[in-house]
Amino acid sequence: MSWWSEFANRIERDTPLGRHTWYRLGGPARYLFRPRDAEDLASLLTRAKHEDIPVKVLGSGANVLISDDGFDGVVVRLDNDAFCTTTRRGTSLEVGAGVDLMPLARRCSEQGLSGLECLAGIPATVGGAVRMNAGGRFGEFGTVVREIEVLRTDGGVETWPHDRIGFQYRRSDLGDGIVLSAQLELVEDDPDRVKRTFDDMLKYKERSQPLADRSAGCVFKNPVGQSAGALIDQAGLKGARYGKAQVSRRHANFIVAEHGATASDVLHLIDLIRERVRNVFGTELETEIEIWKPVRARRRDE
Ligand SMILES: Cc1cc2nc3c(=O)[nH]c(=O)nc-3n(C[C@H](O)[C@H](O)[C@H](O)COP(=O)(O)OP(=O)(O)OC[C@H]3O[C@@H](n4cnc5c(N)ncnc54)[C@H](O)[C@@H]3O)c2cc1C
Repeated sequence: MSWWSEFANRIERDTPLGRHTWYRLGGPARYLFRPRDAEDLASLLTRAKHEDIPVKVLGSGANVLISDDGFDGVVVRLDNDAFCTTTRRGTSLEVGAGVDLMPLARRCSEQGLSGLECLAGIPATVGGAVRMNAGGRFGEFGTVVREIEVLRTDGGVETWPHDRIGFQYRRSDLGDGIVLSAQLELVEDDPDRVKRTFDDMLKYKERSQPLADRSAGCVFKNPVGQSAGALIDQAGLKGARYGKAQVSRRHANFIVAEHGATASDVLHLIDLIRERVRNVFGTELETEIEIWKPVRARRRDE
């Protein structure tokens, strides 16, 4: 019997991960697991830990670049109903980690609930947005998060208040914890005004970013006091290509993937940008996107 037998009808083997990411790139996951609920996920984590098999959670795959060799472990997707519910109590929302934030932000704006407009044009699940503190010049998701429910790798569940989550620029202090749900605190406002703000922010994004292309958003974090996109542009790299990957002409901090691109094309372009920006400006760029490299899992089932 293999270690994963008890999860068999929730596990897919050797599943291509590209179809679950915005880049649509990346090799297969050895196991793709869709837990029924938090308890099911906790059992899987315990088993995987015992077997020394790495586990990663994938939200909507909008901030990850997965290697062409895939991921030799368990990839968890929280897309079952248990993780995708939204409950409103006044101006508070209890949202599951798998909830798709953009439609939620639009619905809230139509109902005159303000606080999520800054997420217009940012694809994310609640879990991914907590980890990344998704946002930009108009605000950040962390501001409206009052507390989260976190599953630890040993299977225990904890409630973390806002201050413990450690929201910073495009990161949080979640560590290995898996977000199960979040409680958001929004503000009641005039629906017309909130909707207009949401639409204006979305239009700004559509004008300035290649939202229709395959990407994972901004590749690099902005160095303190600088814009990564401006540095890449000034280094003469707008439009630069490697294979079927290209530095976007609309926004130089986006690398877009054309038909036939590989993750390796994007990785080459990332290295090239880093090297050029280092040589021209002496600035070290840090990636904002998360790169999933293949990990060798110890296997007992084969
Ligand atoms: C066109 C485009 C535009 C974008 N613009 C912006 C922008 O303006 N601002 C911005 O901040 N980002 C932007 N992004 C990046 C992306 O939208 C955000 O980083 C978003 O938060 C990713 O959420 P996700 O659910 O897709 O997470 P994923 O990409 O699936 O995962 C991101 C990280 O979160 C972790 N994670 C996912 N779910 C959970 C969970 N339940 N518990 C714990 N960890 C979890 C993953 O393991 C991974 O480490 C853009 C991306 C695209 C494609």
